[in-house]
Amino acid sequence: MVTVGLTGGIGSGKSTVVRLLAGHGAVVVDADVVAREVVAPGSPGLAAVAAEFGAGVLAADGSLDRPALAEVVFNDPERLAALNAIVHPLVAERSAALQAAAPADSVVVHDVPLLTENGLAGRYDLVVVVDVPEELQLDRLTRLRGMTPQEARGRMAAQAERGERLAVADVVVPNTGTTAELADRVAELWHELAARAAAGPPAAGR
Ligand code: ATP
Repeated sequence: MVTVGLTGGIGSGKSTVVRLLAGHGAVVVDADVVAREVVAPGSPGLAAVAAEFGAGVLAADGSLDRPALAEVVFNDPERLAALNAIVHPLVAERSAALQAAAPADSVVVHDVPLLTENGLAGRYDLVVVVDVPEELQLDRLTRLRGMTPQEARGRMAAQAERGERLAVADVVVPNTGTTAELADRVAELWHELAARAAAGPPAAGR
């Protein structure tokens, strides 16, 4: 098995790369999906969040009222840290369980948008960063995603900077060309990852 933490800025092409890797046969663990599952209605995670933040963060049907919770933690680092202290260990535990359930020769790709921000690089055999210059990121977010330039800049500013992501990368996948070029790069990356996964457990001392 080889475990990959895949990240990139908003609009960099992360989801596209994840889809391509899945098409080659990677087992994908989506951190956003896992983060929703651990606070699903009736879960211990949701009970812990409600105990910390009050019933005001629950919707009438007992599910998590995300906008209400976002309102509470918005611009309040202490409350956000309290939320993360509940959710992050649960996400780590469930992600590890999903990874453990994959066949021994798998390439397991963890799709983790906030890998850099949350200091998670050490958890994977390899960190892959999908990289585009900020101008291209801005261009794709406005042209393809319908954001205003102001909105796009705000979303980008809320994330780690490009250099911070690149600093934790083992492999950089540039996405400045066409989608066909991206597919070729990802195919190359897949061959390396699959060879590594098939080679078995990593050598001692790694
Ligand atoms: P988010 O952080 O918002 O989830 P993302 O990093 O997952 O974004 P994608 O959704 O993969 O990014 O790509 C953003 C947009 O750019 C999409 O509309 C996608 O189709 C497009 N795109 C990705 N790569 C390319 C490319 N090489 N050329 C042109 N468009 C691209």
